[in-house]
Amino acid sequence: MGAPEDGQPPVDWDSLTFSFTETDRMFVANGSWDSGWSDGAIIDFQPLQLSPAACVLNYGQGLFEGMKARRTPDGRVTLFRPEMNARRAAEGARRLVMPEIPESMFIRAVKSVTDENRRWVPPHGKGELYLRPILFGSSARLGVSPADEYMFVVFAVPVGPYFKGGMTPISLRVSQNHHRAAPGGSGGVKAIGNYAPGMMPSKRAKSEGYSEIIYLDAVEHRYVEEVGAANFFCVKGETIYTPELTGTILPGITRLSIIELAKSMGLEVIEEKVPIDFALGCDEAFCAGTAAVISPIGSIQHGDVEENFGSVGKTTLALYDRLTGIMGGAIEDPFDWTLEV
Ligand SMILES: *Cc1c(COP(=O)(O)O)cnc(C)c1O
Repeated sequence: MGAPEDGQPPVDWDSLTFSFTETDRMFVANGSWDSGWSDGAIIDFQPLQLSPAACVLNYGQGLFEGMKARRTPDGRVTLFRPEMNARRAAEGARRLVMPEIPESMFIRAVKSVTDENRRWVPPHGKGELYLRPILFGSSARLGVSPADEYMFVVFAVPVGPYFKGGMTPISLRVSQNHHRAAPGGSGGVKAIGNYAPGMMPSKRAKSEGYSEIIYLDAVEHRYVEEVGAANFFCVKGETIYTPELTGTILPGITRLSIIELAKSMGLEVIEEKVPIDFALGCDEAFCAGTAAVISPIGSIQHGDVEENFGSVGKTTLALYDRLTGIMGGAIEDPFDWTLEV
């Protein structure tokens, strides 16, 4: 063919960061309550046209997903548990009164966007192709009620580490005045409206030298919820603790995979409320998500108290090695988590 997109993309694989780059193609499908979903199609990457009265712009009726395609050492390209993202998006759609994307369509969309942007999948070990499925109410709506029409779009961006420095332990600060989600709200789904309110406290902490903030629960301001947009883990002895899913915490697929992996490695995993004071007394702490993968926590500032966890702990490192090994295809996948594109 000789089309320009057959060649090397204009990317320096060695200096990838977690930032936006326009790629070749994206997937778009249209849906409505009356006629369901169109098949959708792959089109060139381009801006969308929306009414200024679109429900998503005025009332935040939308959700997103985040997942990664990776290149294996032998050059194949795989996705990690994409059916879990499909199911979480379907749950989110129900919460936000949007028509669900059938799981088969979701998988078809993320596979074809990966395939169509294959040249943007970084070489093994250099980064990943981050896929961003979004679902939102696209038609005009003046009163606060669900849109009639919806769009499901998937685009892709090559990315490097979410936190600068990769496995260098990050420093965090507990947010004293802001909370991410309240009981009965939308914290348990990837609703777009959950994220802008976190920008101000997060930006402030970053300007003071921290990598991110830790949110405590909104009722007692005592239990750890999440680290920005990643789940929290701490390790004491041979036991791993992570906050239980109470509806205010996003059910991360990385979180679930770490729990399953740790149990298979003979470690004990306890899902319960994790008081911040308990977390501060642990041997190791890390956060986990698709973007962050597993990021070791080096220190946590909580009011006047600063807890230092030191260098990367052995359990954190063991989980990191096994999880990234399975994800990247460098070690065997006994769980059948990866799907080849
Ligand atoms: C996406 C997200 C996570 C991590 O979920 P993964 O499925 O592991 O990527 C954790 N917390 C929040 C708030 C998130 O938005």
